[in-house]
Amino acid sequence: MNRQSIPLLSPAIGTHREQLVSFHFGPQNSGQKIYIQASLHADETPAMLTTVLLKRRLLELEKAGALNAEIVLVPVANPVGLGQYVLGQFLGRFDLGSGKNFNRHFLQLTKLVARAKETLGADVDENRRLVRELIAAELAEQKPLTEFESLQLAMLKLSRDVDVVIDLHCSLEAAMHVYTSEAAWPEFEPLSRYLGAQASLLATNSGGEAFDETHSLLWWQLQQEMPADKPVLTGAIAVTVECRGQRDVSYEVAQQDADALVEYLVWRKAIRGDAKPLPELLTPSHAARRQRTVLRAREWHSDSSREDWRDDSRGSAALRYRRSVGRRNHDDFEQYRRRPVHAPRNPLVTSGAPLGHVTGAKAFRTGVLLGA
Ligand SMILES: [Zn+2]
Repeated sequence: MNRQSIPLLSPAIGTHREQLVSFHFGPQNSGQKIYIQASLHADETPAMLTTVLLKRRLLELEKAGALNAEIVLVPVANPVGLGQYVLGQFLGRFDLGSGKNFNRHFLQLTKLVARAKETLGADVDENRRLVRELIAAELAEQKPLTEFESLQLAMLKLSRDVDVVIDLHCSLEAAMHVYTSEAAWPEFEPLSRYLGAQASLLATNSGGEAFDETHSLLWWQLQQEMPADKPVLTGAIAVTVECRGQRDVSYEVAQQDADALVEYLVWRKAIRGDAKPLPELLTPSHAARRQRTVLRAREWHSDSSREDWRDDSRGSAALRYRRSVGRRNHDDFEQYRRRPVHAPRNPLVTSGAPLGHVTGAKAFRTGVLLGA
């Protein structure tokens, strides 16, 4: 294992504080490179603990000579956000300096498609190398002006030539769930199984310019637009894993998730060994379509005993619920995410605030699919 660090731009004289630190395991140029990062939204701590435990395991596996692939691990993907401890609260989702969501506004590598049309030839392997050269050149040209931009650029530089991106997050209160593209689903279905994901949400382009799709969209778009005599295979696939809710931080759960990631890496042959039999896919694959319905305060009322959000205060937006997270609550829908209205921490939500998200087999939502 070797440790690398990329310095970030200092926001003002005398305030330089952070670097993006990465740990590199396994042999280089093995034919497979995997990038795993945690807590790009800095206050999503379950992901960070998972990578701390994963790092221990990778050290053991490397010592035993069991690594077949290069694995880049970034346990603290957002040191800038971790420094935003304000009035006793971590504010890690948005950059306080600009108001921007740390997982939006990534440089869109799809801009390279036009250049690829001029550069690429008939050799499919050579084309992959050429596209990666274009990516590296594009990133080298970037001149970040802010700490936020330098952080995003540092992440892209670390992951510019990887085959697999695994971006670990969590939600406010949620069941384990994953986001990926339709094209990458066959490659990530085993991960969904090992993690015990209760929903797998698929979309080619969610419209948020998030880290995962910055990687996957370029290769997808190349495949759509390149002429037949300039073939391009997928160069990078990406998945975002939502490690339940923010309060789900425990060594037991984090170890379970770290073990699932190791099992997946064995399945990918990045780690030597026999892959464990694939567990059942908790959400049937036919239901694994992009679908996200947002239930908002005062919008959802139901007489059904299976759906028990209740308006407790006749017109105000105070609500509470009794169901446990992740339980199936409708024939066609699987609830996977909700806002933290769980008493006693925060039993009050404001009018119009999203209460929860459900997913199902029938996709009808279009446009930008990600929230703020
Ligand atoms: Zn997140």
